[in-house]
Amino acid sequence: MIESTGIAWVDGKITSMEEARIPFLDRGYFFGDGVYEAVKVIEGKLFALEEHLERFERSMKEIRITPPKTKAEFTDIIRECIEKAGIPNAMVYLQVTRGVGPRMHAFLPQGEPMVTLFVAPMDSLEESVRVAGVSCITVPDERWAHPHIKTLNLLPNVLAKQAAAEKGAFEAIFVLGTEPGGGVVTEASSSNIAAVINGKVVTPPLNGRILPGVSRAIMLETARAAGIEVEEREITLEELLSAEEVILTSTGVEVLGVRELDGVTVGQGVAGPLTRRLYEVFMAGSVQRLS
Ligand code: PLP
Repeated sequence: MIESTGIAWVDGKITSMEEARIPFLDRGYFFGDGVYEAVKVIEGKLFALEEHLERFERSMKEIRITPPKTKAEFTDIIRECIEKAGIPNAMVYLQVTRGVGPRMHAFLPQGEPMVTLFVAPMDSLEESVRVAGVSCITVPDERWAHPHIKTLNLLPNVLAKQAAAEKGAFEAIFVLGTEPGGGVVTEASSSNIAAVINGKVVTPPLNGRILPGVSRAIMLETARAAGIEVEEREITLEELLSAEEVILTSTGVEVLGVRELDGVTVGQGVAGPLTRRLYEVFMAGSVQRLS
């Protein structure tokens, strides 16, 4: 164990987070030219690692980075770091950039991808937050046209989350377009969304405008296995604002209820009954995905 605030892995070298150094000319720093994953560690076990590593490979291919390591090699590095970190409940952050070289926009002919990773403590949300639900705001979805790729280019997400924080809200939900009805909702700044509309759970489809969330997929699978009907279709802002329940899903929050949206109470003003049920079946199904 190195120390409790986490450890970093940079190009094969493990250090404390504070001591980790990356080269100034890394393209991740200048261009955000890279992709990442965040995997949850629960009591020393990795949650849904295979799903995360598959999405990581897909993201690399989408931006034309040849994966510098196999999934098995990434797994070995991750496990070594978890063991060294000795933090039972943590997040593993894994990043690949197009590497180091003179600052030129086009790819460097001899560029080698740069792998970095850290393990830092991350506890599950408090039960009281789960019961109470969280508040959200809506913001225009002004991101680039490929938010299905988990790239380092998170400026719109950063600004959206900050806008939420400044209003005392937990998350910002993106709204795309200004069609009659106020456009469609896509996802949130660092989570996917779902809603209960006319008694049914609906969530936006994987149409390239959202990140294919690992938690979203597990929520859909465990809900269906439990006999809860779930539909993947577009949700208008108007529908979201009058939904019975609004739900966030992500590695960090798992399945979390929304109690207030743009200052208006959602449902009964606490995490709704279907949200609680979805959370229960999600957690029950999670056990099989720990490794
Ligand atoms: N959408 C965005 C924009 C995200 O950044 C994230 C997670 O970071 C998610 C959705 C949820 O994805 P996952 O469930 O794989 O954590």
